Amino acid sequence: MNLLLFGPPGAGKGTQAKLLSKRKNLIHVSTGDLLRETASKTTPIAKKLKNFMEKGDLVPDQMVIEIIKNEIQNLKKLKKSGFLIDGFPRTLVQAKSLETMLENIKEALEKVILIEVDSKKLIHRLTGRRVCENCKAIFHKDSLKKSSCPHCHSPLDQRTDDQIQFIQKRLSIYEKTTKPILQFYEAKNLVQKVKGEGDVEEVYQKIINA
Ligand code: AMP
Repeated sequence: MNLLLFGPPGAGKGTQAKLLSKRKNLIHVSTGDLLRETASKTTPIAKKLKNFMEKGDLVPDQMVIEIIKNEIQNLKKLKKSGFLIDGFPRTLVQAKSLETMLENIKEALEKVILIEVDSKKLIHRLTGRRVCENCKAIFHKDSLKKSSCPHCHSPLDQRTDDQIQFIQKRLSIYEKTTKPILQFYEAKNLVQKVKGEGDVEEVYQKIINA
């Protein structure tokens, strides 16, 4: 099963991708995670990446494609039941490049799951999102009893790009640049819509049903 999780920032792609990959033995490829890891180093490229990411801008196509290329090439070597990509593609250039990368390893996407959530809910989710600095688990501040991670007790962080001015920019980039790619996948009859409202397990079940 080769899947793409698609949707606006805050739709729950990362959370669902973590669950799906664990329970269904899929390789999880997240450009957001890969880019954050690369940006946390002390290299010249890390500084460039941070400049784009912290302000909620898209990282230029060539940089993202370069970073995801190795992951895609390695997919075949890992003995899993399939893969799950989240956060990529975000532009038409990336979508076409992903198709070529997959053709080169004789793989293809079987479904694109579009997780839909209304924009008021997205803003509420993103402004309240907290991420454990150690285990990277994701929470909403309203569901936390303490200010530390309920799993490993490490401090929780708020992503710089989860501030309202950057959230608005990210949502607008999604509408203008990323959402139109759906037509590319609709033409291939791959898109299945899922309502991303409700709790994590409810949304998970909807994805499984889809
Ligand atoms: P995410 O964790 O998916 O919300 O991604 C966080 C940030 O990483 C985005 O706001 C972008 O700055 C950058 N990013 C992630 N994936 C891509 C991509 N496919 N193309 C360009 N920038 C990306």
